[in-house]
Amino acid sequence: MEKHHKFSIWYVLIGIWAVLILHNIIFSAIAVKVIPYSQFLELLKDKKVSEVAITSNQIQGRMVGEGGEPGQMFRTVRVDPDISGLLEEYQVTFKGEIESTFFRDLLSWIVPIAIFIGIWMFMMRRMTGQQARFMSLGKNKAKIYVEEDLNVTFEDAAGVDEAKQELVEVIEFLREPERFTRLGGKMPRGILLVGPPGTGKTLLAKAVAGESNVPFFSLSGSEFVEMFVGLGAARVRDLFTQAKEKAPCIIFIDELDALGKARGVGGVGGHDEREQTLNQLLVEMDGFDPQVGVILMAATNRPEILDPALLRPGRFDRQILVDRPDKTGREAILRVHIRDIQASDEVDLAVLSGMTPGMVGADLANLINEAALLAVRKGKDKVEMADFEEAVERIVAGLEKKNRLINPREREIVAFHEMGHAMVALSLPGTDPVQKISIIPRGIAALGYTMQVPTEDRFLMKKTELLNRIATLLGGRAAEEIIFEDISTGAHNDLAKATDIARSMVKEYGMSSTVGQVYFAREKRGQFLDTVIQGAKEYSEATAELIDSEVRDIIQKQYEKALDLLKSKRQILEKGAAILLEKEKIDGSELKAIMASS
Ligand code: ADP
Ligand code: ZN
Repeated sequence: MEKHHKFSIWYVLIGIWAVLILHNIIFSAIAVKVIPYSQFLELLKDKKVSEVAITSNQIQGRMVGEGGEPGQMFRTVRVDPDISGLLEEYQVTFKGEIESTFFRDLLSWIVPIAIFIGIWMFMMRRMTGQQARFMSLGKNKAKIYVEEDLNVTFEDAAGVDEAKQELVEVIEFLREPERFTRLGGKMPRGILLVGPPGTGKTLLAKAVAGESNVPFFSLSGSEFVEMFVGLGAARVRDLFTQAKEKAPCIIFIDELDALGKARGVGGVGGHDEREQTLNQLLVEMDGFDPQVGVILMAATNRPEILDPALLRPGRFDRQILVDRPDKTGREAILRVHIRDIQASDEVDLAVLSGMTPGMVGADLANLINEAALLAVRKGKDKVEMADFEEAVERIVAGLEKKNRLINPREREIVAFHEMGHAMVALSLPGTDPVQKISIIPRGIAALGYTMQVPTEDRFLMKKTELLNRIATLLGGRAAEEIIFEDISTGAHNDLAKATDIARSMVKEYGMSSTVGQVYFAREKRGQFLDTVIQGAKEYSEATAELIDSEVRDIIQKQYEKALDLLKSKRQILEKGAAILLEKEKIDGSELKAIMASS
């Protein structure tokens, strides 16, 4: 891209140079010699002027040429208001003239402009995609983003079954919109696909279009923002107009976060263009009638930075998680992509998927391709297991460099850590049931996770429940200490949450007997900076110390509770972690079975 850019700048420079040269040539061809008035009088006296044309402020004429040829043109400023007498005297043909500079203008301006346009068009033809769109100043052509007759189907996207299930309804709607709307049903207007890059979000959106056989409009959020001010908004308007004409159809916006970042985030000086575009998008989303059958889909890997306005009901109110695939998911994805190559029968996809923890669909597609290239290079006519193994090594090395995979040692720590959370949660009453635990890394912050779903909406929490919750949060670190006799940084988020609960217990809920049944207002925090505003405390230093020591005490006691509990069930801890390392994911019922097994 960068290279291309420089390339076109050279064209512009060369173009300007050519225009200048041409300009000179044109002018010297019709060169008019400017002479002083005195010289003109001299010429007149010497009878060297053949004809003149007089305008209000200048005299233009032709000298007598040699041998009947027309002579040199000349021009001079008219000094003498009345020279007709003089001209008559010397018998020069003369005419008064209303100044017409038309021809000169034509040559000096229009020709260069025409040349410029010529160069412009030449460049446009040479440029591709993005660049050309940029240069054509937001003049959209439908063919830029609409794709019809996609032959992508649900078969092509594997290992994302949960997401697919949620999308089935959308496909049914697009196939027969009348069936849904007849009963007054409403379709979601906006579906947000959330997940790490390369997990198949674009693929899924295309598959929905392909399955329901409707046109697929797509645009990337970052494309909107590179435009000049006002063009992004115009483009959004255009996109929706075109889509409505083709309804039912799908509009897909990739990288929604580039466009829909919360206003004020990351902004010195704001970003007018992005904001205008975002506003236009919101207007369009609110404006279109869901009955027409335009479904808006968007993808992001950072839903947390999106402007909340985008997530309001009636906008992107349905979120679908497209997560990293687990082991079976990866096997399924490999199966999809291996169709494209000639693989030997001995290739075992289950083994391969075991070798590729943390990889996403795009990595796996890349893996298959890489293996095929390796086999070709070695002159084989089938891709063998050895080629795949070599390709795995290459890709893992690449991803490790980009810090996207965790090493086996870390994986083990994470497995015990997550198992620790889950076991404490399952052993203590009043904690939310564990839905699943996973060591498939998600994002940068969380290496693994234990998902607990609240059974009901809670308004009141008992003290023991809060304590148990703290113990659960500390279970991860406790497991690490028991198994490795060492602790890692992986628990920092847990500690933050546990401390938060403990602090609230002491300061807001009056749950500490030492501090007493008192409410101490929380410090107000600055809205943007995470600094505590000074002077907001409403208690003495002594109380502050007491609060601190109480908080520490609560946390320490719960940590010991978690430690004891896990020590007494060390076998289960080890068994569970082993299963987790093997399968990467354990769901709630399986976990209960493991817990009950000894
Ligand atoms: P995203 O939009 O989530 O960044 P893409 O849909 O662009 O990811 O995926 C890029 C490519 O990776 C796809 O074209 C496909 O070849 C492959 N891929 C990704 N996810 C899957 C999947 N779940 N099943 C099959 N192939 C996948
Ligand atoms: Zn944890």
